[in-house]
Amino acid sequence: MKDSINARTKLVGLFADPCTHSNSPRIHNKSFIELGINMVYLSFQVNEKNIKEAITALKTFKMVGANLSMPNKKLAIPYLDKLSPEAKLIGAVNTIVNHNGVLTGYMTDGIGYIESLRQESINIKDKKVTTAGAGGAATAICIQSALEGAREISIFNRTEENAKIIVGKINENTDCKASYYSLYDKKALRKEIEDSQVFINTTNIGMGKYEDQSIIEDPTYFREDLIVVDIIYSPEKTKMLKMAEDKGCKTINGLGMLINQGAASFKLWTGKDMPIDYIKDLWNRS
Ligand code: NAP
Repeated sequence: MKDSINARTKLVGLFADPCTHSNSPRIHNKSFIELGINMVYLSFQVNEKNIKEAITALKTFKMVGANLSMPNKKLAIPYLDKLSPEAKLIGAVNTIVNHNGVLTGYMTDGIGYIESLRQESINIKDKKVTTAGAGGAATAICIQSALEGAREISIFNRTEENAKIIVGKINENTDCKASYYSLYDKKALRKEIEDSQVFINTTNIGMGKYEDQSIIEDPTYFREDLIVVDIIYSPEKTKMLKMAEDKGCKTINGLGMLINQGAASFKLWTGKDMPIDYIKDLWNRS
């Protein structure tokens, strides 16, 4: 097992600001060591002031690639040579791969979400999905779900601007039918959840200062055969997931999405599968 850095070690970076709170360096470095891959993953403070230089450095130092997080997922796009089809449609990039000096941008958040469902034996194809939230994560999740064959997606959000952009992209580019509703329209929310096989919370409600809140306040919105997903992973079980569990729903939190989006980036850089069980085990013990 390789566990030391030498003159042949290749570099992968995280470009983000703030850059010191991420779990990605730990996840990737543990995986490199476990599989004996001579790469190292380091975190760099990158924002609108130095994103161009950071991306140029990928070529200068022949880096393998990078992950992008806040505020760089959209800012990086003008400096890349190519975009994957999903990154192009989503309009954001979280992974860059340096193929012999050609930088390609990918978006693995939605891929990680779909894979986390697949690992629970859930196939999104032909399903109707209701989503609360229309931020960055929702954009990737909804567009990827549509690309994977979801039949219908109903998006509920406080504000309409971004939700309508997602709806437009899905309706114009895929066979999935997407619609926007106000989050305050409780009657429509109940009805759309009633018609759906999957409900997913992509808002911040359930974590941080909203930890004691649930985006669904009335448990009768849930029924036993509904799959309820919360992409929040800390706390492990949000108030909403506890409520859904009490109603007998199958529930999934955001840890699978987090690990699988990283695994998809890992595969793009190394060609190898991330040792997901080993990483989940490390996570649960920390
Ligand atoms: P974002 O782009 O800032 O979007 C936040 C979303 O939450 C928006 O739809 C926003 O509505 C909504 N929201 C915020 N405060 C709200 C409130 N008080 N009431 C109702 N809606 C509210 O953030 P993001 O990157 O999409 O992340 C959203 C959540 O997903 C966070 O909890 C984050 O930790 C989680 N996440 C998880 C993963 C994973 O791998 N599991 C990955 C990414 C994100 P408006 O549009 O109306 O403001």
